[in-house]
Amino acid sequence: MGVSDCLFCKIIKGEIPSTKVYEDEFVLAFLDISPVAPAHILIVPKLHIVSASDISEENSIYAAKCFEAIAKIAVSEGLDSGFRVITNSGTDGAQSVFHLHFHLLGGKQFDVRLV
Ligand code: AMP
Repeated sequence: MGVSDCLFCKIIKGEIPSTKVYEDEFVLAFLDISPVAPAHILIVPKLHIVSASDISEENSIYAAKCFEAIAKIAVSEGLDSGFRVITNSGTDGAQSVFHLHFHLLGGKQFDVRLV
């Protein structure tokens, strides 16, 4: 799947609607359409990077900016007592949208630990 048929590229371009939570030059963050926690926000780089496997020296500023955004969003969303950040990568990671994104999950105490 390339940039032209990428769901998150279309959301970034405004061709598909989203509920925006945060935006800057590098990052768009919006509500996940199928939330699994009271707060479930997707943080997406504005560059089409397929997955965590594709972060490189050339594009890693976008990943860094995603994490700067996460820190800001955690404050603006009132996630004072903590949160989780998850990225699914590739087939074994159960990634379903092949544009790098970070799930920011919060608003509840998580009882299941994967790690
Ligand atoms: P992943 O399975 O880690 O690739 O995550 C993809 C996420 O995108 C899932 O949590 C979906 O619920 C979410 N999603 C899919 N389509 C949309 C959409 N149009 N707007 C917001 N979130 C979406």
